[in-house]
Amino acid sequence: MSGTAVLAAGSHRSRTRKVRVGKVEIGGGAPVSVQSMTITDTRDIEGTLVQIYQLAAEGCEIVRLAVPDQAAAEALGGIKPRSPLPIVADIHFDHRLALAALEAGVDKLRINPGNIGSRARTRTVAEAAKRQGVPIRIGANIGSLSKATLRKFGQPCAEALVDSALEDVKVLQDLDFHDIVISVKASDVPMAVDAYTMISERVDYPLHVGITESGTAWTGGIKSATGIGAILARGIGDTIRVSLAADPVEEVKVGFEILKSLGLRTRGVQLVACPSCGRAEVDIIAIAQEVERRLARIDAPVKVAVMGCAVNGPGEARMADLGIACGRGMGLLFKNGKIIASLPESRLVDALMEQVEQLASEKAATG
Ligand code: SF4
Repeated sequence: MSGTAVLAAGSHRSRTRKVRVGKVEIGGGAPVSVQSMTITDTRDIEGTLVQIYQLAAEGCEIVRLAVPDQAAAEALGGIKPRSPLPIVADIHFDHRLALAALEAGVDKLRINPGNIGSRARTRTVAEAAKRQGVPIRIGANIGSLSKATLRKFGQPCAEALVDSALEDVKVLQDLDFHDIVISVKASDVPMAVDAYTMISERVDYPLHVGITESGTAWTGGIKSATGIGAILARGIGDTIRVSLAADPVEEVKVGFEILKSLGLRTRGVQLVACPSCGRAEVDIIAIAQEVERRLARIDAPVKVAVMGCAVNGPGEARMADLGIACGRGMGLLFKNGKIIASLPESRLVDALMEQVEQLASEKAATG
């Protein structure tokens, strides 16, 4: 994990304040958490809870719910006590909804003071949140900058996002309110990277990182991995949300893959698979897909390598906890760097999975 040490050393992440969202800590060196947002109608209490449980099963740690009207705010009162995850109420335009969400007992508010109305209204919400010890995320978004900010900068840009967020932060700070999380989201990756880099140099509040309106699972996954990954690799960012036009469970999966690929979290299996080439003497793509499918339900942090031939295969397989390196119609099974079996191709995946299950239960037993 030397990469993690390099990433963390002197990073913004190691210096941020700590904010508590229910049972989850954000910032101050806490693990980078993964969030998502339900796409059900929040007024549908049962449907929303089903989706929250699906997200929790995938490892989601914080869930955000849209609160577009008073009925949705009231539904929070039915959802919150039964939710396995801390709840963030997402409020736009009407500060009374934020007050109602606080009354329902939510764990965090996300507001965009640029559209919540007057400063006095933001103040009212902040005072109520402070009384309840509930943090607020200031969510500046490139698509909803205030007219004044746009006039000041002439166009939507990273500087405008940062300026807008800092203005709102100042309102909260003036109230001696410091349980703040900030996001400065843009759909343009270089702009988002610039905005997060700039704001991390100006404040020590934890940062919620995301690329807004990034696209479908395919394009948005790539765009989010590029943008969120670039920001996290700079040592910036304390919690992430991948925004996809897809089932939110996909957002959680992509989020953890981003964190795992940077060595920031270890949840679930990390699969190393060779891309296959003319040297492969087995159908390595089919084998890798089968392994990936069967690994999906394993939560333990296990590194597995699936390699096609003797060129890079044994090296990668040795570096993983478990690995297979294939030859003509057969493969070697590695555990902790050592060959433990030579098997026909037809037995390889089952034998690998038996070892994965065993290692996962050993890890579970030792905590
Ligand atoms: S491990 Fe072998 S089969 Fe796989 S890509 Fe590398 S050289 Fe090709």
